[in-house]
Amino acid sequence: MRETEKIMGISIDRVNMEEAYNRFKMFMGKNKLHTIYTPNTEIIMMAQHDYELKEILNTGDLVIPDGIGLVYASKILGKQLKERVTGVDLMTRILQYCNKEERSIFILGGKPGIAELATKNITKVFPQIEIKGVRDGYFKEEEEQCIIDTINTLEPDVLFVALGVPRQEKWINKHHLKVRVAMGVGGSIDIWAGTVKRAPIFFQRLGLEWLYRLFKEPWRYRRMAVLPKFLINVIINKNRQRD
Ligand code: UDP
Repeated sequence: MRETEKIMGISIDRVNMEEAYNRFKMFMGKNKLHTIYTPNTEIIMMAQHDYELKEILNTGDLVIPDGIGLVYASKILGKQLKERVTGVDLMTRILQYCNKEERSIFILGGKPGIAELATKNITKVFPQIEIKGVRDGYFKEEEEQCIIDTINTLEPDVLFVALGVPRQEKWINKHHLKVRVAMGVGGSIDIWAGTVKRAPIFFQRLGLEWLYRLFKEPWRYRRMAVLPKFLINVIINKNRQRD
């Protein structure tokens, strides 16, 4: 049975990486669309004002806690989120699976050239994956239907969507494509392309990936300042959430 924890009105799956991966494998065995979303504190805060995003996250078939802030919030609320499960790590597990089982993927998103570069690197590591298609995320409105038709014709097993939050979640939700799994992956495409580097393992293990990112991309400080704000909100809302 699915176990979730509600953090600031959003249901997050109480899973570790292995359990998240097992859920994904279960989705692959069913011939219908399943959605995977990867909220972090910034996204949860965004969803407090963006009700459409909030609703969409709450309809996700697997919603993983992609941020140490969610694990802290869970502790503050006396809930039991097990650990941080990042989108980029789950994406890698999914790619491993697709390689082993010779499944197909489609990548939508990223700047022109970036998705292609990411795909090239993915193919180097996972040569058995069938790449059904790649398309950058800066298409015009009039091109959108053609992209949808292409995906629905190709029917890839997994669709990775990197259009930034909340666009990618809304896009996945709106079009209900003929794929088994659609996952919002955001900046993971840039990591696969090699244009953005992940924090060294040392920072990842300590849950300080955000600090590393702050050093590397100081202009993000405004977006990151949301973490303390988020925790304060969690504390303020603690009693209300219990009701
Ligand atoms: N992106 C896109 N189309 C857009 C907006 C963003 O393809 O209209 C891509 C962007 O190039 C990047 C990814 O979405 O590869 C993630 O964007 P963002 O920085 O907003 O997300 P985060 O890094 O927080 O996951």
